[in-house]
Amino acid sequence: MSEQAYKRRGVPLVVSAPSGAGKTTLCHKLIDSLGDVSFSVSYTTRPLRGKEQDGVDYYFVSENTFEQLVAEDAFLEWAHVHGHRYGTHRRTTEDLLAAGKDVLFDIDIQGGEQIASALDDAALLFILPPNKKVLEERLRGRSSDSEEQIVRRLEAAQNEVKAAAFYHYWLINGHLDDALDEMRALLLAERLKRASKKALQDAFFMQEGD
Ligand code: 5GP
Repeated sequence: MSEQAYKRRGVPLVVSAPSGAGKTTLCHKLIDSLGDVSFSVSYTTRPLRGKEQDGVDYYFVSENTFEQLVAEDAFLEWAHVHGHRYGTHRRTTEDLLAAGKDVLFDIDIQGGEQIASALDDAALLFILPPNKKVLEERLRGRSSDSEEQIVRRLEAAQNEVKAAAFYHYWLINGHLDDALDEMRALLLAERLKRASKKALQDAFFMQEGD
């Protein structure tokens, strides 16, 4: 089958989840396990944390720079999250998608809503922990957050779960490997949806004379 038959625009895949659902781990594993998937590196005004690297995890920018980018309409979407601003660069995203790269957006629900209206071919995935109790255990286990922060995150999680009804796919992250399999299946199916049927027909009939 000719390569042309598979030439396609990349899949814009939005992944959102309450904090503690395992979203970041799943996103990185998905990128490692499938080719042609790029992580959308957002711009943020929040300070760099721990082992994060500028240009890899985020582009860490000042309030002024962010403001200027907003004024230039450089963002496909942007939002205030936990007191800081985060945004997705429009041009970079469009270039990757046009080059046939799937783009994975690790963004919040406000961003998901904006991407859904900006790109009609976006696939929206919401990742859930199995239940509130498991989420609470994960939040307590992983961080040095104060009791007050944990309570706030749990409340935020409940609101997000209620507000995410417009996401196309919901996936429960109980066992990492199972959740990863489901995420791969989703992305592979979205890729198939986008293969040009016309190009596939042409390639099929061309082979007759080969
Ligand atoms: P963190 O600061 O912990 O890395 O991320 C905080 C939240 O901001 C997470 O829910 C993350 O998904 C979200 N986020 C990261 N980048 C963007 C972005 O470009 N746009 C939006 N709307 N949310 C983002």
